[in-house]
Amino acid sequence: MGPFYDRLMNPAIILVAPEHAAALRDEFGRYVRDYDIRTTTSVAEAEQVAGSIVAAGGQVAMFVTESRLPDGPVFEAFARWRTVVATARRLVTVHWSHFLEDSVALRPGLAKGKYDASLLMPRGVRDEEFHTAVCELLSDWGSTVATPEVDTVRIISPGQDALAEGIRDFLDRMGMPNRTYTPDSDEGRAAIARAGADPTFPLVESVDREVFSPVSVRDVAVRVFGTPAGIELDAVVDVAVVGAGPAGLAAAVYASSEGLSTVVLEAEAVGGQAGTSSMIRNYLGFPRGISGMRLAQRARNQAIRFGTRFFTGWSVTSLEPGVDGAAHVVHTDGGDVRARAVVVATGVRYRKLGVPSVEAFVGLGVFYGSAMSAAREMEGTDVVVVGGGNSAGQAAIHLAKFARSVTILVRRDGLEATMSQYLISEIAHLPRVQVRTCSEVVGATGAGRIEQITVRGTRTGAEEVLPCRGLVLLLGAEPHCEWLPECLARDARGFVLTGRDVPADRWIDGLPPASLATTVPGVFAAGDIRATSMKRVAAASGEGASVVPLVHAWLEPEEG
Ligand SMILES: Cc1cc2nc3c(=O)[nH]c(=O)nc-3n(C[C@H](O)[C@H](O)[C@H](O)COP(=O)(O)OP(=O)(O)OC[C@H]3O[C@@H](n4cnc5c(N)ncnc54)[C@H](O)[C@@H]3O)c2cc1C
Repeated sequence: MGPFYDRLMNPAIILVAPEHAAALRDEFGRYVRDYDIRTTTSVAEAEQVAGSIVAAGGQVAMFVTESRLPDGPVFEAFARWRTVVATARRLVTVHWSHFLEDSVALRPGLAKGKYDASLLMPRGVRDEEFHTAVCELLSDWGSTVATPEVDTVRIISPGQDALAEGIRDFLDRMGMPNRTYTPDSDEGRAAIARAGADPTFPLVESVDREVFSPVSVRDVAVRVFGTPAGIELDAVVDVAVVGAGPAGLAAAVYASSEGLSTVVLEAEAVGGQAGTSSMIRNYLGFPRGISGMRLAQRARNQAIRFGTRFFTGWSVTSLEPGVDGAAHVVHTDGGDVRARAVVVATGVRYRKLGVPSVEAFVGLGVFYGSAMSAAREMEGTDVVVVGGGNSAGQAAIHLAKFARSVTILVRRDGLEATMSQYLISEIAHLPRVQVRTCSEVVGATGAGRIEQITVRGTRTGAEEVLPCRGLVLLLGAEPHCEWLPECLARDARGFVLTGRDVPADRWIDGLPPASLATTVPGVFAAGDIRATSMKRVAAASGEGASVVPLVHAWLEPEEG
């Protein structure tokens, strides 16, 4: 079979071009190998074409529309198309003859998330800026569609399984293309044949096509990415970075780019909280936003290019500070790392709900922090997001692309005190998202997977059972600090104190530590784990970068 055998089933790009069809078709000519380019001339025709593609089992990757349409305003058009296909990316191309007027009219819609991007129609050949934006949108679509096209790692699982879901989430966040197969599929049968008699599920077929039965996500991490014990034990690295969220990743990029030998130890996948964010829209330099997963994967690749060594799936269990200039020792269950300087970048974790019947379904429809990859499975179902912060708002917007209904559930009587206004406005425009105030989750039931939750009114005490195939819990954060030694000063909640935040009785020679230095010489802290930090991606990565000059100063104090 040739490479184009399933051209007819290629995902569609629907052009809606009442005035400039020839120009747009010409422009999208370069995508015909991978996409089915359909040209329409009105809102209704595009809706009908999308409907027929979906009815035939096909996919629509993107709508590309002119800004002026014969049968309705462009924002209404997107709302109508969204009811037919919710996941397609939405691009407006503005003809230069009415660029100024239409760009101004379109701008408020972008802030409210009514479409993904607006671009000036190309005026000549090879407008690569235009096509970079198109490709970014398509790539973003590709990473959220139900069935990934490429699978470097295969998971064979007979049904709903918390371990299989955990493995898939880990691989997604590490940017490792993966796909789950049932045992009776062709791929499943082939893997089982290689696994030998009586295999335990889930089975994983790794990058090298070896088949094994992991008992934890870490087993997969070790197979794919190695262990800290792989480092020669006698070697002392310049910097050990603990945590690979934005702060740790930035510290790694800057430290290794400046010639310091750098090791990063990460308990889960790279990206930290940011890696679970479907779309970071306020990070400098990404006007169309960037998924946290992609930002993290790029940063990891960047750090690797400069020589950083990553060990993912390894939680640091303790830190033994070096005395009198000796190296610090960072302990993990997979080996120790000895480092002349340590950057603590372990961020925060979400609070637990503490309802046993709900905790029993974690990984089986219940997710803490985010449900980026699980969102695909929630297509057509009823989903509940608990929490009133920005992360809850973002999760609800992302889930609404897939779910039949999304309910944001909060104890307070509204979202205004806890969520940014731009998210509240965006949610108000999404008919599938409702907000249920003065409510809390007190129980859950289901056969093998969550199916219903019991919700209690905080004022009335009345209980109600709601259908719920996905429960995303975003309940506020507490620091990952249990592994830190007593001598490292922290505030009452456990956040690490640095610089002038350290109480004066812990200063040395009447001077506070440097801005990102802790009370343990040679140990620095960056990002959300730090008391008084801003709790944003840009701030965390800024601190990760800023820590590096302090590390240099510690490693090579100026001759005085
Ligand atoms: C869903 C969501 C959406 C968000 N959206 C935005 C947004 O749009 N814009 C914005 O500016 N901010 C956003 N934030 C906040 C932002 O993601 C955080 O401020 C940022 O990620 C903090 O980075 P960090 O590196 O300090 O910590 P984290 O991102 O928390 O990373 C810490 C890392 O350390 C690891 N770790 C913890 N303990 C250990 C251990 N003992 N050993 C090894 N590793 C360990 C963790 O697994 C984690 O990967 C969002 C947060 C969430 C949860």
